Amino acid sequence: MVLKMKFEEAYSISHHSNYTIEEIAKIHEKSLETYVTDYKGYFACPECREAKLNFVNSKPCYFRTEQDDSHNDDCSLKQLTMSAHQTEGFVSNTENKEKIGRQLQSIMTMLLSDKPTAVRTTRVQSNATSSKKQSSSVSESFREKQVPRKRIDTKFRNEDYDCYKFFYGKVRAVWEKDEKRPEYMKLLLFHAKESRLLCRIYITGKVFSHIPQPYKDLNQKVCEIAFLASFDSNRNSTEKSYQSTSLRFGHFFILNHP
Ligand SMILES: [Zn+2]
Repeated sequence: MVLKMKFEEAYSISHHSNYTIEEIAKIHEKSLETYVTDYKGYFACPECREAKLNFVNSKPCYFRTEQDDSHNDDCSLKQLTMSAHQTEGFVSNTENKEKIGRQLQSIMTMLLSDKPTAVRTTRVQSNATSSKKQSSSVSESFREKQVPRKRIDTKFRNEDYDCYKFFYGKVRAVWEKDEKRPEYMKLLLFHAKESRLLCRIYITGKVFSHIPQPYKDLNQKVCEIAFLASFDSNRNSTEKSYQSTSLRFGHFFILNHP
């Protein structure tokens, strides 16, 4: 069975960086000529950069693989994703703590790598330092279904609510105390280039105490973030432009800042 997978971001071979579907839709809308000359035909998988992607200008727009088997063998985006029910089971099982950490790290590697060689260098190093037994368990985990992923700075759709996903992207992050509930902290994530608020993450004092200190010193800084969370569709009413969620455990989130 050939599955044409949909993507919300793609690596541009001509520009050496990843673009969200919204950024490309804007370029396409602004000037078709620029799009055709500089972007069309140059999209690849944002993680392995080997599978060729096409921009599909529909409502909503998305990127689609040309052939689903053209990803690198290790590419996690080649895998099928878990259902909401499977993800809930995966997240609730405390034995998956390390797996969640590795997946957050792999998303961070993708966010931080600007050149194709950067991704490969990281992979080669991690294989070289791990024992044979470990590397076989890593390759087995690549055959498993993956927790779905979602760029935090792209528009939310119905399927993005009420299920756990890895949310990630480049944001401006601000810590704030919750005035109404003093036992809570809030992490506000703003768009990295615009002033708009993307989401609020509520964090209890107990979970906050498990968050590494450098993460708490990042006020107003632009940083890369990846976190595992579920956004409740009832709590996120449509009139609000930003989303809210809460962080279940301290290890469900990583960030990188200068
Ligand atoms: Zn790939």
